[in-house]
Amino acid sequence: SHSNHQWQSRREAAVTPGVASALNCYLAKARNAELWDVEGRRHIDFASGIAVLNTGHNHPKVIAAVQAQLEQFTHPCFQVTPYGSYVELAEKLNALVPIQAPTQTLLMSTGAEAVENAIKVARIATGRSAIIAFRGGFHGRTLLGMALTGKVQPYKKGYGPFPGGIFHAPYPASYLGISDNQALGALQGIFAADVAPDDVAAIIIEPVQGEGGFYAASSDFLRQLRKLCDEHGIVLIADEIQSGFCRTGKTFAIEHSGVEPDIMTMAKSLAGGFPLSAIVGRRELMQKALPGGLGGTYAGSPIGIAAALAVLEIIEEEQLNQRAEQQGELLQAALHAMASEFDCIGDVRGCGAMVAMELVEAGDRQRPDKLLTQALVQEAGRQGLVLLSCGVRGNVIRFLIPLTASKEIIEEGLNVLYSSLRMV
Ligand code: PLP
Repeated sequence: SHSNHQWQSRREAAVTPGVASALNCYLAKARNAELWDVEGRRHIDFASGIAVLNTGHNHPKVIAAVQAQLEQFTHPCFQVTPYGSYVELAEKLNALVPIQAPTQTLLMSTGAEAVENAIKVARIATGRSAIIAFRGGFHGRTLLGMALTGKVQPYKKGYGPFPGGIFHAPYPASYLGISDNQALGALQGIFAADVAPDDVAAIIIEPVQGEGGFYAASSDFLRQLRKLCDEHGIVLIADEIQSGFCRTGKTFAIEHSGVEPDIMTMAKSLAGGFPLSAIVGRRELMQKALPGGLGGTYAGSPIGIAAALAVLEIIEEEQLNQRAEQQGELLQAALHAMASEFDCIGDVRGCGAMVAMELVEAGDRQRPDKLLTQALVQEAGRQGLVLLSCGVRGNVIRFLIPLTASKEIIEEGLNVLYSSLRMV
C-alpha cells in the first residue's frame, strides 16, 4: 500500500498538472462528512467534493439504489434502447423546479454539458445567438463554458480563442461595490454599444455565484432581470449547478427571489456523488430542439439516475432545506465569533448553508489576502479538515458541508478551523 507522498510523486509523472488538487492526501474511504486517506488519517469534509455531496458521501440509500441498478443494467444508452427511469426522473425534476408547468428535461453527465445544452436550446428556440453572462461567474471548462466564465485565471488563460457573441456584465455584488442599478445600467450599456437586445438568445446567471466568491444577487435584481428578458424575448437561464438541491435552504437558490427562470441547469448534488446533470426548461422552448440534436453516449446514465431518484427522496425524508438553514446559522454564528478574534477575517456571508468568509490583511476589507487563504487551506488540510477557497480575488473560504453532517462533526471541524487560524 502506498503513502500519500508516494502517490503524489507517481502522479506528478503520470498526470497532467492541468488538473490540480486542493490537497495532496489520497483518498481511501468516505462516509457522510468524513474521509480517510491511504495512510488511515481521518479528515472532516467541509467541501463535499465541490458541492456534490449535499446528501453526504456514500449515503446508504444512494448506494442501495445504485447497487440495485447495477444488477439490472449499467449502460443501454438512452439514444439506443431507452429506459423508464430517465422518464421518471424527468417527471420528478419537471415538478421540482420553480418554473410554471409544463416543463421538459434533458439529462447529461456534467455541469458544463448542462450549460452548453441550455445555450443550445436557447439558441434554437429563439433563432438568436448572442449570450450575456456575468463577471465572476463560472460555467465550466469546455470551450463554451470558459467563454461564458467571467473569471479569467486559471480557467481561460491561453486556451482561446473562445466562441464569440458572448458579453459580460458586472455581477451585482454589494460587497464588491456594485449596486443593482449599476449592474442594470451596465446591461443597458451592452445593449446600446455591443449587441441589440433582440439579438440576445439568453442571459445566464448564477443566483448565488459559486466559484466567483459566494455572492448572492438580490431578489430585486433578479426581478429586474426577469423583466428585461420578458421585454426582449430573452431566455433567462439560472445556473444552479453549485447552489441547487437545498444548499441555500430552498431546493433552488432562485426560489428565494420568487423569480421563475426559463431554463435551469443542475448537476453536482443532483446525483449524490455520481456524474449526472440536467437542464429543465419551459416546454415551449425545450420542444423546439430537433430530434437527435441533443444528448450523448453517456448522457443520462442509468446509474446516475438511480442515485438521483434516491437523492430526491432523501431531500424530503431528511428535510435537507431545514437542515441547510440550521447549518447556515451554526456556521455564521461560529464564523462571526472567530471574526471578532482574528482580524484576518473580513466579510462573513451566506445564503442558507452556502457560507463564505473572506481573508484580508489585518482587518482591512479592501486588501484581500490570497496567500493567507492558501496557507489556511494547507494548514487545515494538515490538521484533518478539507477546506476550499474560491473568489475572483482568491481570498474566500467557502463552506460546502454535507447537509446530512451532524452538529458534532461540524463543531469538530470548526475547532480545527480555529486552531488552523491560530497557526497561519
Ligand atoms: N456551473 C457552475 C455554477 C458551477 O459551479 C460549475 C462547477 O463548479 C459548473 C457550471 C461546471 O460543472 P462541471 O464541473 O460538472 O462541468
